[in-house]
Amino acid sequence: MDLIYKSTRNENETALASQAILKGLADDGGLFVPDSIPAFDVSLEALSKMDYKGVAYEVMKLMLTDFTEEELKYCINSAYDSKFDTPEIAPLVKKGGAYFLELFHGKTIAFKDMALSILPYLLTTSAKKNNVSNEIVILTATSGDTGKAALAGFADVPGTRIIVFYPKNGVSPIQEKQMVTQKGDNTCVIGIHGNFDDAQTGVKKMFSDKNLAAALDAKGFQFSSANSINIGRLVPQMVYYVYAYTRLMAKGEIQEGDLIDVVVPTGNFGNILAAYYAKLMGLPIRRLVCASNENKVLYDFFETGVYDRNREFILTSSPSMDILISSNLERLIYRIAGNNAASNKALMDSLSKDGRYEISADMKGELASFTGGYATEAETSAAIKALYEAEGYIMDTHTAVAKSVFDKYAAKTDVLPTVIASTASPYKFTRSVMNSIDEKYDSFGDFELVDKLCELSGVKVPEAIEDIRSAPVRHDIVCEKDAMEAEVRKFLGL
Ligand SMILES: *Cc1c(COP(=O)(O)O)cnc(C)c1O
Repeated sequence: MDLIYKSTRNENETALASQAILKGLADDGGLFVPDSIPAFDVSLEALSKMDYKGVAYEVMKLMLTDFTEEELKYCINSAYDSKFDTPEIAPLVKKGGAYFLELFHGKTIAFKDMALSILPYLLTTSAKKNNVSNEIVILTATSGDTGKAALAGFADVPGTRIIVFYPKNGVSPIQEKQMVTQKGDNTCVIGIHGNFDDAQTGVKKMFSDKNLAAALDAKGFQFSSANSINIGRLVPQMVYYVYAYTRLMAKGEIQEGDLIDVVVPTGNFGNILAAYYAKLMGLPIRRLVCASNENKVLYDFFETGVYDRNREFILTSSPSMDILISSNLERLIYRIAGNNAASNKALMDSLSKDGRYEISADMKGELASFTGGYATEAETSAAIKALYEAEGYIMDTHTAVAKSVFDKYAAKTDVLPTVIASTASPYKFTRSVMNSIDEKYDSFGDFELVDKLCELSGVKVPEAIEDIRSAPVRHDIVCEKDAMEAEVRKFLGL
């Protein structure tokens, strides 16, 4: 029997996995969620003997049931190859009392590569399976890392085009350089005068615009999403939590069945939701620690049960987490409401109308495995400096938010073996990272800093950084936030 996906806002809108991947977002603006999460059908012991691809297959086959074994293995083998700079794909490194799951060994040196290396294959396979002849237009809002990872994944993929919107003044210099130098005739990168939430809201609006959909269809196009609202992003992200657990087993750090904690630096709530889904699949995770930066809307939510985005949007040194509307939280809300689309919809309507909602006491009771924490800018910098001085290991700013939250959490409770999702290479946020180690670096140029970071960490400069040293800018459009649709129409010739 195939696993059915349903919209979080309307239980009558259902889809098979491949259809949900093609659509991205449900027609009613809801997110597709699996009707149930299947349990593992092989033992963790067996998984601990497999490589990354093997684990990926065993997890993904349970969630993407309408893909054949051949289709799924084709997607997995095409994604997790030498594009990654280590054969382990996601190495687990023990430092500072925790295990860092390094998810940044892909092409664009952020964890988004883990899913966006495979999404183009899942999507084009889904199109074929469903006899879709339209060209797929990937429409994406990015806080910096999704954009580049999606561009790298979809560049020159036949039958696809990709349009990326980013907040012009809300990404790091290296993130911006990576995006605006993107090659590929099917790519389009646009900065907006606004923040990430503005970009995401604009994109979501275009997704549910019936007139625009008709105009696209008339020209042989249809939209899909590379954001983590697409289950084609979420499912591949479950894999590395299972992989991490089974590596701990393989290294003899834990026995099969022992509980672990995970700490995830969170923005749009996609990464941590994948960990939660892995837990529901049977992975022995005790606690999911949701780490926020100073935009601590999620921390407040886990403390109080009130989600309130009516607050100042703060630009931090961890820009990929500068988000006040965490889209994927909706999937958790739906679940703790007892898989109830009507209750979820009422809360989401209140979010879009008033910018806030409050969950019931019963729903709050369902959140027992989650804990929120946050780190200030000063704490984030201090965490980078402290771990560097203690172990010579240099974290990026997002990972440092998680490490700081972990240290505070560990100080007040018992700790289990803890996996920290390490979401970006320090090379992606060189300036903030180096300034955390010593303020004297503030006067250095961007690439001088890169060389200095190499010297201090002993970690080779990744190809992703070498590539942009001299790459020409190929995208220079900047628009107002209410002109996003006009830019899309222009690029597609509508
Ligand atoms: C996207 C991103 C995050 C946040 O992940 P979500 O799935 O949006 O919660 C954290 N760190 C980095 C480096 C990212 O690129």
